[in-house]
Amino acid sequence: MTTYPVNAFTAPKGTYDLTPPDSATFLAVREALAAPLRRSGYGYIETPGFEHVELFSRGVGESTDIVTKEMYTLTTKGGTELALRPEGTASVLRAALERNLHKAGNLPVKLWYSGSYYRYERPQAGRYRHFSQVGAEAIGAEDPALDAELIILAVDAYRSLGLRDFRLLLNSLGDKECRPAYREALQGFLRGLDLDEETRRRIEINPLRVLDDKREAVRKQLVGAPALRDHLCEACKVYHERVRQLLTAAGVVFEDDEKLVRGLDYYTRTTFEFIHDGLGSQSAVGGGGRYDGLSEMIGGPALPSVGWALGVDRTVLALRAEGVELELPAATEVYAVPLGDAARDVLFDLVTALRRAGVAADFAFGGKGLKNAMKSANRSGARFALVAGERDLAEGVVQLKDLESGDQTPVALDAVVEELRARRG
Ligand code: AMP
Repeated sequence: MTTYPVNAFTAPKGTYDLTPPDSATFLAVREALAAPLRRSGYGYIETPGFEHVELFSRGVGESTDIVTKEMYTLTTKGGTELALRPEGTASVLRAALERNLHKAGNLPVKLWYSGSYYRYERPQAGRYRHFSQVGAEAIGAEDPALDAELIILAVDAYRSLGLRDFRLLLNSLGDKECRPAYREALQGFLRGLDLDEETRRRIEINPLRVLDDKREAVRKQLVGAPALRDHLCEACKVYHERVRQLLTAAGVVFEDDEKLVRGLDYYTRTTFEFIHDGLGSQSAVGGGGRYDGLSEMIGGPALPSVGWALGVDRTVLALRAEGVELELPAATEVYAVPLGDAARDVLFDLVTALRRAGVAADFAFGGKGLKNAMKSANRSGARFALVAGERDLAEGVVQLKDLESGDQTPVALDAVVEELRARRG
């Protein structure tokens, strides 16, 4: 006999099930985050939930927490090393290169996506092992207007949901011209600090990430670290200034944040993060930046690119923190309540006809009595109930009840669909 651990029938640690009614909000948030992209020339892309491990170790970076600690890896029966995707950018770029989208003539290739991502992190409020992002990537163009476009689209997406208390942090990480010299200067500074073994290793692999260390003992020592701002080359300075100007012209408020490095190795020049102050320690609701070298890192041609990913779970939490209730259309507009077997058949047909006519309709299944069925009708959120018994059928009508006002009127069977279409406006 197989024995199961006691918790085999609960959701795994760090995950949660999305169920009605909350799932409706989640879906609406995902839609709202994607909506600005759809009307800005971004095409939808879907990639597999898993990839070759190497894509991420090369693409996301050997020194990142994501690759060293957080990837869910597995070996297939055939011996292939795979990882559940911890983020979207590397996969999307891989797919674009593999499908030669960058050779189709139109650069940048603009893509958006939405899906689940997996990181073996320590779960806490707002931090899950399975979470959801909406992302966008603009591949193959170096243009500050493209960086600005993406940032503006994210801001517009948050605003369209009614979110107010978010802040945009902005930084430039330099490029392959100026970053090496800065890196060396920073390494020189960091090597002189009192740091643990792991952080010392990080100094050698990706010293910029040490600047991102959240621990107080480390932060204290970082005062006086060489600033990237003082090392940016002229081209990077001009580029960054242009992004800032475009954002300002679009009415986007941002804060320059020197320390913003982000957890992925591939970023160059523009980096940004959206922070929500109502979320406690897991305050990032989205982030992104430019990754001009990533394509070459994963075996492609030089394709300067920029992108972002917005966290759907955390955006839902941010809305809750601000007390924003989304106005969601009722899932059911009409609820049919049959009284007796003959009425069941007639109303069931009517519900099918309503659905086919585009009216969201549901039915009192399971032979409920009138009282219970009316309770279900109210709970469904429907504005109208259709009630019919034998007497109504004999007269060729059903009773159309407005559940808000309580008014009830008989409507001829063959006029019900039209009447409801008219009433819902
Ligand atoms: P990143 O890919 O780390 O830049 O993350 C982009 C966004 O995804 C973050 O700003 C979060 O909103 C969200 N996110 C990242 N990791 C998690 C997680 N473990 N749980 C929930 N949301 C996450």
